[in-house]
Amino acid sequence: MAVTEPAPVELPPAHEGILRRQALRESAARTYARSLPIVPVRARGMTIEGADGRRYLDCLSGAGTLALGHNHPVVLEAVRKVIDSGAPLHVLDLATPVKDAFTTELFSTLPREFADNARIQFCGPAGTDAVEAAFKLVRAATGRSELLAFTGAYHGMTAGALAASGGATDVRVTRLPFPHRYRCPFGTGGERGADIAARWTEYLLDDPKSGVPEPAAMILEPVQGEGGVNPAPDSWMRRMREITRERSIALIADEVQTGVGRTGTFWAVEHSGIVPDVMVLSKAIGGSLPLAVIVYRSELDLWQPGAHAGTFRGNQLAMAAGAATLAYVRENRLAERAGTLGVRMLAALQALSADHPSIGDVRGRGLMIGIELVDPEAGPPTVTAENGSAPPPDPALATAVQQECLRRGLIVELGGRHGAVVRLLPPLTLTDEQATAVVDRLADALRAAERSPYRRAAAGPTR
Ligand code: PMP
Repeated sequence: MAVTEPAPVELPPAHEGILRRQALRESAARTYARSLPIVPVRARGMTIEGADGRRYLDCLSGAGTLALGHNHPVVLEAVRKVIDSGAPLHVLDLATPVKDAFTTELFSTLPREFADNARIQFCGPAGTDAVEAAFKLVRAATGRSELLAFTGAYHGMTAGALAASGGATDVRVTRLPFPHRYRCPFGTGGERGADIAARWTEYLLDDPKSGVPEPAAMILEPVQGEGGVNPAPDSWMRRMREITRERSIALIADEVQTGVGRTGTFWAVEHSGIVPDVMVLSKAIGGSLPLAVIVYRSELDLWQPGAHAGTFRGNQLAMAAGAATLAYVRENRLAERAGTLGVRMLAALQALSADHPSIGDVRGRGLMIGIELVDPEAGPPTVTAENGSAPPPDPALATAVQQECLRRGLIVELGGRHGAVVRLLPPLTLTDEQATAVVDRLADALRAAERSPYRRAAAGPTR
């Protein structure tokens, strides 16, 4: 009997095995991993390389974390320096030279008027931990518990933050209208919509029968990120500051995503010139490692020792990476660069809308950019925008665009209440050539998605 050689077994590429095992072993709640089947093995600047050898331009940047892109030399150097020095990596909330330097650098970037009279609390490592700390602080300081938050907001996934984001929990939050320029709830958009939104806020707070209890704080994002890149008008930000100050309500600015130069100023509150009572900071302040803090007016510092604790509040590597990142953004004026480049990219994307009725709106501030995709042929417009009618959002097209971008080596994020906003959060170190490549690949992906039978594809998760 002839012995036949077994046919060589075709092993699936390593990345396929990893993805398959991830799908089998990780929770159904996984998010980015569903729409971005990439196994990153190397990364530098704006480029990620997958285990399959493919390279991508990364416009997601760790959900807006990587101000300097991946593995920036100053970040790596700062991390290595701590490791080589023999300093402890875990220190609870003890004082260290690394933490001292981080705090000095952070305070030097904050608005003077704020920093001169501020305290910092190091929180658990995620943005949502700092949001909870901010709520706890203002409750302790005011003796009140209720909160004010806005439609379209996103503050995190723990109970208080989730409630402030519109999730169902038993934390009491009054939801106020955010001045959305494209899907304005009052059908006017612009300054007029912002004015009505502010009046509604005042009316609710001053009407003794409104059913809104006296709140401890109002939390807002100067540019809503996950909500679909909605910049708040500067005049509205100033109104919110006046309204809260006049009524002794603490104003919490959530700059988790907008901070560290992203919107064209170092902190996004600088656009309007307001000084909040509390700032919530995370993502980019850790230079790509987990770090979250609140900085607040010292008069609010009324909580008891140990009122807010946590084992992981002393991440030395994150503080070193963060201090290096903050210094680099400041010294190289990357906020200004983000502003200039953002204007250019917005203009290029707006120009695309002439040929694409599926582009409902292009908006953003600095390098926080959103393109809302709509279906101009589907049904009557639901909400009227500033400059006419806004057709219904098209999340299936957005999902198709994201997939077509991926095919073209571009990673983009989806957001917005309907998941129909393509979001760009490139690193602030983006070159002119990379900015052009992003716009070109996106335009090409949109053309391909519009031609594809995308409507049959199920829209994926948005976060
Ligand atoms: N606030 C804002 C404005 C955010 O964008 C996010 C995260 N996208 C958070 C809070 C929560 O941060 P984390 O995911 O680190 O908990």
